[in-house]
Amino acid sequence: MLTMTFLGVGGAFAKRNFQSNALVEAWTVGPDAQASPDDNLLIDFGSTGPLALHQLKDVDGFHYLSDGARIHFPAIKRVFISHQHADHIGGLEEMAFANRFLYASTNDNGSCKPELISSTEILKNLWEHSLKGGLGILKDQPATLDDYFDVNALAHDNVDACGFDLLDKYRFSIFSTDHLCLDHKYDWPSLGLFITQDGSSESAFFSGDTKYDFEAYESMLQRSKIIFHDVQLHEQPDPVHALLSQMQEMPQAIRQKTFLYHYDDTWDAPQYNCVDEQFAGFVKPHRRYVIFDG
Ligand SMILES: [Zn+2]
Ligand SMILES: [Zn+2]
Repeated sequence: MLTMTFLGVGGAFAKRNFQSNALVEAWTVGPDAQASPDDNLLIDFGSTGPLALHQLKDVDGFHYLSDGARIHFPAIKRVFISHQHADHIGGLEEMAFANRFLYASTNDNGSCKPELISSTEILKNLWEHSLKGGLGILKDQPATLDDYFDVNALAHDNVDACGFDLLDKYRFSIFSTDHLCLDHKYDWPSLGLFITQDGSSESAFFSGDTKYDFEAYESMLQRSKIIFHDVQLHEQPDPVHALLSQMQEMPQAIRQKTFLYHYDDTWDAPQYNCVDEQFAGFVKPHRRYVIFDG
């Protein structure tokens, strides 16, 4: 079984919800039979990620993430980074230092390095332009990303053919998203995930942050039985996220299997009541969504 639970469902400026980071859990047997999953993966860990995880650990079914009053960071096996905005990477310094200084001697395998997965280009930029300022020194020694994480850099020259697996049967293929660009489409790296299961025709779509680009994603959206897509509720010229008004243009059959996340704090205003009718709904935080039940 593969499940996805959102730590938060808000956009970069959300204050009523945490930012949109998600915990994927892979189970050999279902979650009812086991205290903890056999593998897991955080999709992004932004500035509000640590506090969001701190709250999730006290929710029934997630106590394996708890070390009493603290987050048990070694319980997070892998982290995938979709892109470099702070609402997706701002919690990594705390995770790295907590694993290094609070849990270095207690982890099962003697190391407290979660796997850090992204494209080569994103990981290089992540270190050079975001994390190095805080993590670049350990006591009196220079440090690198490898001191904190088992780095899994996916070749960036052919992003659309790359991916990674959980439990050798759930395949996470990365694809480029059109979130921001300097000169041409895809020149500022950002990624989404297309998830498939070995031996099954079922698949799932996770957009990451992207402008509305139905044409680029249509074949994956058609094939997916469940879709998670970012949305921006307030109208704006030249947006960097998919506007609700644009998402409403998608065919009904696709809208009905699409959950919206990364939404503004105004989600409960009356004009957005239509979301429950036109889509699968807004993603609810802390709810375990089943991606594959086998
Ligand atoms: Zn974002
Ligand atoms: Zn972004």
